[in-house]
Amino acid sequence: MGVIRTIAVVILSISFVVFVALFGRLPAFRRTPVAFLHRLLLKHIPNAFGVLDERLTGRRVSRSLARTGDYLMNEKHPLVLVFFLLLQIIGEVLFIPASWDRLGVSQKIVIPCLVAAPLWFLYLSATTSSNITPANHAACMRIYPYDFALFHPGYFCSTCHFAKPARSKHCGICKACVQKQDHHCIWINNCVGRNNYIWFILLLVSIAMLLAYGTQLGYVLLDGRLQERFVPAALTRGSLTAKRWSTKMGWGEFWHCWAWAISVEWRIGAVMMLAFMSFPLAVGFLVYHVYLIWAGMTTNESGKWTDWKEDIEDEMVYKARISELRETYPPLPEDVEPRDQDVSWPAGVRAKWWLVRMEDGRKPILRSRVKEGEEEGDGMEQHREVVDERWAKVESLKEVENVYDLGFWENLKDSMFNRG
Ligand SMILES: [Zn+2]
Ligand SMILES: [Zn+2]
Repeated sequence: MGVIRTIAVVILSISFVVFVALFGRLPAFRRTPVAFLHRLLLKHIPNAFGVLDERLTGRRVSRSLARTGDYLMNEKHPLVLVFFLLLQIIGEVLFIPASWDRLGVSQKIVIPCLVAAPLWFLYLSATTSSNITPANHAACMRIYPYDFALFHPGYFCSTCHFAKPARSKHCGICKACVQKQDHHCIWINNCVGRNNYIWFILLLVSIAMLLAYGTQLGYVLLDGRLQERFVPAALTRGSLTAKRWSTKMGWGEFWHCWAWAISVEWRIGAVMMLAFMSFPLAVGFLVYHVYLIWAGMTTNESGKWTDWKEDIEDEMVYKARISELRETYPPLPEDVEPRDQDVSWPAGVRAKWWLVRMEDGRKPILRSRVKEGEEEGDGMEQHREVVDERWAKVESLKEVENVYDLGFWENLKDSMFNRG
């Protein structure tokens, strides 16, 4: 029992801290204990440490840690990818030779495939770039239409110096604008974007399958070992009902037997437990991405939608028909705002509403230039502010259409096969 508990506590604690550090900032965890722990871990504890270090070493330790941390957090480096790779390889090297002699033919065929798939998809995810370059920029501009909510035409990337295509985002770590940027993933040391999303999803699927299979196989092998130990085949030979080793056993004794099996077969036991506990993480991530595909969103866009939702609740958001606004806001030049017919997104699926967020919560102003002179006779040209009645307050997110949502199957097809 002691062995299981120790291994479980260590693995669970490490996974939990890693989980909080990596995912605590996701919009889904806003205003939850996970977000609180994330702040505690990455803000309050380092601050407290800084105060202590100030007194003891005059901030020497903090400065060198900050440099290392800055490199680890903001530069592109394969440290986490190598850790991920080692975790897989060490697990496989421990598990497979220790179990090989007990495996059947089909298992010996399935295992190499299950081991190879995540490595192959990891390689493809890490090496497939979705970066926007001067060479492909014009083509990138014509993939998705602007939705005039999350993505408006006329915004330029201050680093890359070109107009930002719809659904793109500049990644400070990759130091490039990324097509249909989903998120920067440190496990693959690359941005997940339009071109490698398919490999990223297949990586998640293959990892989940590997972990499920490893857990199930480890269970079967150790259970077989327990059966051998406590109910030798010689005893039940010839009897009609083969006795199970755990029959009529109390919980305490049952776990005690498992602890014995795990400590005797520690290579299989430890990997099985790691696989069992990592499985929910892989599946959770996969389920989240299936949800995003269903909703026609990227991780980046889901964060933006959450912001809009909060701003709508704060009564700061207005909408107007784009067709009506065109009188005063004509389209920008074609290289900054491609014409509808040049965008490859299905014809007719275009934004109808123009959304704005007003910091002061007041209706947008129509800056009308009137010659005051005609009214007052002093000849001065002045601005007069007139409320623009074409705008109406957005009461709920339901009023806003997501033009990137074509329905689950079309979204899936777009995510997987609409690649550069
Ligand atoms: Zn950029
Ligand atoms: Zn990136």
